[in-house]
Amino acid sequence: MITTKDDLKDMLVSKGVKPTFQRLSILGAVFEKRTHPTIKSLHGELVKSVPTLSKTTLYSTLELFAHKGIVTALTIDPTKVRYDGHTTPHHHFFCDHCARIIDLDLACANSRRGEFEGHRISEVHGYFKGICKECLTKDHKKHNLSRRN
Ligand SMILES: [Zn+2]
Ligand SMILES: [Zn+2]
Repeated sequence: MITTKDDLKDMLVSKGVKPTFQRLSILGAVFEKRTHPTIKSLHGELVKSVPTLSKTTLYSTLELFAHKGIVTALTIDPTKVRYDGHTTPHHHFFCDHCARIIDLDLACANSRRGEFEGHRISEVHGYFKGICKECLTKDHKKHNLSRRN
């Protein structure tokens, strides 16, 4: 688990990315979360500590990180790209109701092979879509209430 500033710095250096203050702040914010944030929500949070950060810089930095395999760009949400700081292969569940992306402790058995029928694998994406358990519980309650009235 990467947590300290030094770990983040080492990670950037090992990928050949110069560890500037802005890049470290961005990486820290993505790593901290398991919510798969959008550019908009990351920007809203980061400007509090890095007021000079523009959305364009944030976008190009995340693109760079994704290109270097430091973060994963998820395209499961039909309306926007979401970012994942955890690059160990894991599957995702997308809730059609609340748009949450939840990590599933499930990985394709082939994902660690790095190769399939001669094709070299660089990324593995496993997606499920549906309604999350929290939304199902809320819906159920609402349903019961309306029936009682
Ligand atoms: Zn939901
Ligand atoms: Zn994830």
